[in-house]
Amino acid sequence: MIRRAPYVDLVFGPQNYHRLPKLLKNLEKGEGCRAKERGNRSRPKRETALQVVEAEGVSDDSKFDNLPAPSHSGPIASVTIQEGCDRFCTFCVVPHTRGREWSRPVEDILQEVTEWVAGGALEIQLLGQNVNAYAGRDGEGVVHDLALLIRRVALLEGVERIRFITSHPADMNDDLAALFGELPELSPYLHLPVQSGSEKILAAMERGHTVAEYLSWIERVRQFRPDVAVASDFIVGFPGESEADFQATLDLVEAVQFDHAYSFCYSSRPGTVAAEMGDQIPREVAQERLARLQNVLNAQQLAGNQSRVGQVVSVLVEGPGSRGDGEWTGRAADFRKVHFSHPRDPTGRILNVEIIEGFAHSLRGRCV
Ligand code: SF4
Repeated sequence: MIRRAPYVDLVFGPQNYHRLPKLLKNLEKGEGCRAKERGNRSRPKRETALQVVEAEGVSDDSKFDNLPAPSHSGPIASVTIQEGCDRFCTFCVVPHTRGREWSRPVEDILQEVTEWVAGGALEIQLLGQNVNAYAGRDGEGVVHDLALLIRRVALLEGVERIRFITSHPADMNDDLAALFGELPELSPYLHLPVQSGSEKILAAMERGHTVAEYLSWIERVRQFRPDVAVASDFIVGFPGESEADFQATLDLVEAVQFDHAYSFCYSSRPGTVAAEMGDQIPREVAQERLARLQNVLNAQQLAGNQSRVGQVVSVLVEGPGSRGDGEWTGRAADFRKVHFSHPRDPTGRILNVEIIEGFAHSLRGRCV
């Protein structure tokens, strides 16, 4: 990075961003120099030519302990509960760059949520690289999985909505699925990346689950909460992907009917297993497949949005819409964006809105 962009003054790892004020002061004092950074937990020691000396053995605890306390909040607050990933999918750099899985202690999370709610937040988004692998301890040493943590968060006064992002199919469990039917505070939204609908490609990606297992989780969650919005991620053109493999992805998309999706052409990441695989797919083939996939996903998303017309949904208002002029925007419980008119600023309130129009990426409604 520094070689390509000599104007960069400072490079430091994600476990150290709470140190930014001190690092900037050091730079001002002319103390920038070559760096030695060692990741935390079981990450191997790494020496890189950075411009600032960085601390060794920094733990995530100290990072979270040293970040500023929440002071101002919009209606939706994001709370990191977990970092890193132990899965090592063959295409992904995250385990190499963010390190192994680490879960924040339960009490720290509950404290932060309480502070956000006191600042006006109504919705709490629990974030993690692999959020449903959460395994944090409370003050008595009791290990909480994600389902138990969500139950504890829901008990806090003022928490109206809870959402969690992003999950791994292999870390789903029955308790978490059942929670969708049990806990009114848990929003009907599940982001569950599948990447491919081909068994062969899933195995090559070392995702740790099959197509049948993925479909079974979607089915189970829908049994508990039929209106749950399902979102996913897709990678098209992974090494070795044949037209039949790609067709299997289209079949899976057809079977699930997604409400939202992120889809990309495979892009090789240095240092990953997939980067060394043979049978890399030509860019133009991958792009043509991606266009076909996105056509199907966009059509599903539009149909899903249009099917909401006539329904009255509760919308958490985030602020003015891009049009201005009395237009406001917010999120339905299933995370769909909703635009509507209102004579006064309703930011931070939950309003009932009747949907009158569905577009590809949003809904339009009238406040009732
Ligand atoms: Fe972990 Fe997700 Fe990357 Fe797989 S794709 S290694 S689950 S972060």
